[in-house]
Amino acid sequence: MTAGVIAPGSVLGVLGGGQLGAMFTVAACRLGYHVAVWDPDPDAPAHRVATHSFPFSFTDQQVLTRFADLVSVVTYEWENVPVELCRALEQRKPVRPSSAILSVIQDRIAQKNFLATNGFSVPPFAALASPDQLLSTVRQVGFPALCKTATAGYDGKGQWRIPHESDIPEVEQAVLESARPDMRWIVESLVSFERELSILVVRGSDGQSCTYPMVENEHEEGILRATMVPAPGSSAVADQAAALAIQVVDRLEGVGVFCLELFHLPTGELLINEIAPRPHNSGHYTLDVCTVSQFEQQVRVICGMPLGEVRLLSPAVMLNLIGDDAVSLMKGEGCRTLLDIPGAVLHLYGKHVIRPRRKMGHVTFLGETLGLALDRAKQFRDGLASGPPASG
Ligand code: AMP
Repeated sequence: MTAGVIAPGSVLGVLGGGQLGAMFTVAACRLGYHVAVWDPDPDAPAHRVATHSFPFSFTDQQVLTRFADLVSVVTYEWENVPVELCRALEQRKPVRPSSAILSVIQDRIAQKNFLATNGFSVPPFAALASPDQLLSTVRQVGFPALCKTATAGYDGKGQWRIPHESDIPEVEQAVLESARPDMRWIVESLVSFERELSILVVRGSDGQSCTYPMVENEHEEGILRATMVPAPGSSAVADQAAALAIQVVDRLEGVGVFCLELFHLPTGELLINEIAPRPHNSGHYTLDVCTVSQFEQQVRVICGMPLGEVRLLSPAVMLNLIGDDAVSLMKGEGCRTLLDIPGAVLHLYGKHVIRPRRKMGHVTFLGETLGLALDRAKQFRDGLASGPPASG
């Protein structure tokens, strides 16, 4: 094998065992690798498909030694894994993307500063060190605004909208009540975008990169609900997004799979909302309609293998199954109704407990045209909205 290449048969380490870790594990197993999953939650979905399970605290030093001894390379399935753990593992084995990149990305203030100082367009923002400075900080970006925790927020958690100055006291109180020691926040201008877009980019250690088609996303209460691929509209925007994604990840010198979440403004401008240093929910369609999925790319790139060809084989709509959406599907009849829709590909994550806002699975609807895929997704969504089908 070429130097630096990690051969099939080796053990790949992944921090975090949610659905992204599980899909990475399945992709790695298909390529002949073994995977060690480290996630403190013994019920985390990836443990059921891993060769080696580490259901232990991320601060356990003995586990760290065992894990580092076992694996050839380490990656992570989301950005909120402890950066100190990545740094410690990096002393022993390669971590891809690196802990330095993780530390920039997992802190929204550091990430926005990185983007802004490198000339990339982001919504106006200002750092907030203490809730009692909320008013003066919001005045720097203007109303309406949004306050977010600088770290550990996801899927709209830890976010407060501030439409008017009169909302300041209520939001200040809410921020104060959720505050933990050393917590910081970022205040952003609330952007009136026309639509939300995202794009995946893969970059190898040799600096080669490739992008996936740009997609359009629909969110509900800060959580991704649906993704359309390819994003409707002009191909000039898609070209602009692809060039931007490559420039950002080049500037980061990132090795791995990244996703840029973008706001498309009525002026045509693209603003970067955030960067994910890992496969992304809006890229799940790649499992069913691309020559090489985002998870296989993650395996290839961390192992020093060539990047896979990216080709979209069919238009598609990906619909997330959130909270109670899964109730009828986890009963036989709802599942039968869904699987009867032509072009519907179901992924259930095997989570035992259904909670509001929890991602339980997703469905990819394929169609010869995007219009047909949208019709099929709508047929299913209408069924979800009208409640679970009668049993019997
Ligand atoms: P985030 O956790 O930053 O990805 O935010 C979750 C969702 O909140 C985004 O997908 C947007 O729908 C919305 N959002 C976040 N930041 C802004 C912003 N500055 N302006 C408008 N909407 C936003």
